[in-house]
Amino acid sequence: MDSEIFYKSASELDSLLDSGKLTSVELTKAVIERTRSIDAKLHAFISFDEEKTLNEAIQSDMRRKTGEKLSNLDGIPVGIKDLISERGQPLTCGSKILGGYVSPYDATVIERMRNAGCVLWGRLNMDEFAMGSSNENSYHGKVANPWDISRVPGGSSGGSAAAVASGETILALGSDTGGSIRQPAAFCGIVGLKPTYGAVSRYGLVAFASSLDQIGPMGRSVEDVATLFHVISGHDDKDSSSYPVDKTNHSMESVKNKRIKTIGIPSEYFGEGLDPEIRQTIEDAINFYKNAGHRVKEVSLTMTEYTMAVYYIIATAEASSNLARFDGVRYGYRSERAKDAVDLYYRTRGEGFGSEVKRRIMLGTYVLSNENFESYYLRAQKVRTLIRNDFMEVFKNVDLLITPVTPSPAFKIGEKSADPLQMYLSDIYTISINLAGLCALSLPCGLSSDRLPIGFQIIGKPFHEHEVLSLGYEFEQAHDFKNMHPAI
Ligand code: GLN
Repeated sequence: MDSEIFYKSASELDSLLDSGKLTSVELTKAVIERTRSIDAKLHAFISFDEEKTLNEAIQSDMRRKTGEKLSNLDGIPVGIKDLISERGQPLTCGSKILGGYVSPYDATVIERMRNAGCVLWGRLNMDEFAMGSSNENSYHGKVANPWDISRVPGGSSGGSAAAVASGETILALGSDTGGSIRQPAAFCGIVGLKPTYGAVSRYGLVAFASSLDQIGPMGRSVEDVATLFHVISGHDDKDSSSYPVDKTNHSMESVKNKRIKTIGIPSEYFGEGLDPEIRQTIEDAINFYKNAGHRVKEVSLTMTEYTMAVYYIIATAEASSNLARFDGVRYGYRSERAKDAVDLYYRTRGEGFGSEVKRRIMLGTYVLSNENFESYYLRAQKVRTLIRNDFMEVFKNVDLLITPVTPSPAFKIGEKSADPLQMYLSDIYTISINLAGLCALSLPCGLSSDRLPIGFQIIGKPFHEHEVLSLGYEFEQAHDFKNMHPAI
């Protein structure tokens, strides 16, 4: 068998598994071997359970043999960001405070992947509680970018992106509150989809900011990402914010079907601070679409300058409330030096949370406090509506938008960790999508002169994932970025 089997796409692997030339056990072993040989450099995994994973592969092989294949992903390994509950597996959210915690139940996305026969591979590293853009905030150690291990993989789904990019897994789940799927996908040269708020159930996802969080697929091709999205999306009674998505809409047939679209280019996303190489590479991608017959127009999103401020009020407010449950009584870590109950809360939280998480809890508590609630939180909610209206207005005249994902390629480990504002600015092009409840795809479109991946973002109307994927698929078919791998 091909020595680089771990770099094949899920769709190629599905045919190999169908033909009997490959078994899921062989594939899963290849991925485990790959992880064993390179993960000391990358640190993409927090934990894995080889025996459990191989057992799932054995089950899958039996199904394929008896013609009872459950889906095109039956037998395909999928890594899981360590904030999604898988029954019986540890879950840490990259934090000390969840040390020793084991999930007692399956998230809805996990249940759906089991029903599709996916092999649930290891637990992927992340910024603590998904707060960060570099994966330097994990209690379990920093993750390195497989393209250059002196650089960050992005965050907070940095483990997911690094593992997919380096062949430690075929697919992965990430989560995106302000860019955490798209930014690491761009930094690591892979494809990531942030689904529309409500398209994928959040049941079993540890909450960071509940009105912004979405689980989404990460993979090496648009088709693979679309296939996994198809499996995990759809209405769920256990999540009151989930929406009855029409699944037939985003079938592969629909994704492969090219339609002529009007693409908007928001000028505010191409202003100061954008790396010239990224600008040029995205302009080339836009020209590709023009030449392919799409209409391209410049548009304006006038609320863009407020997105960062609004996000860091709403996200921190929600985080401060969501994270109140980690008190040393119910889950994971408990300080052993506590004198009484109140002291237990203080010590457990003081010892258990890292500094970025504490910063967010303090900011969130501040904006929610009595005297600041109206001037910060309430006002931010109003501006959030204006940001959404801004997009909806533009979407009256265009079908989709194209923008950069990040202002620069992957930066050096340590380069921004002392300056939270600089770090926050690395999500300047992604957070508005979460605030407005839209969907967006990040996909590779080139390499910088330093051989670092560059991605671009396709933004769609709510529940128009099929359009976003379809436009991405068209680009991918005409280029060869999905076969471009890091030299790790
Ligand atoms: N980097 C952003 C933050 O730190 C977004 C994180 C995310 O999407 N989870 O909040």
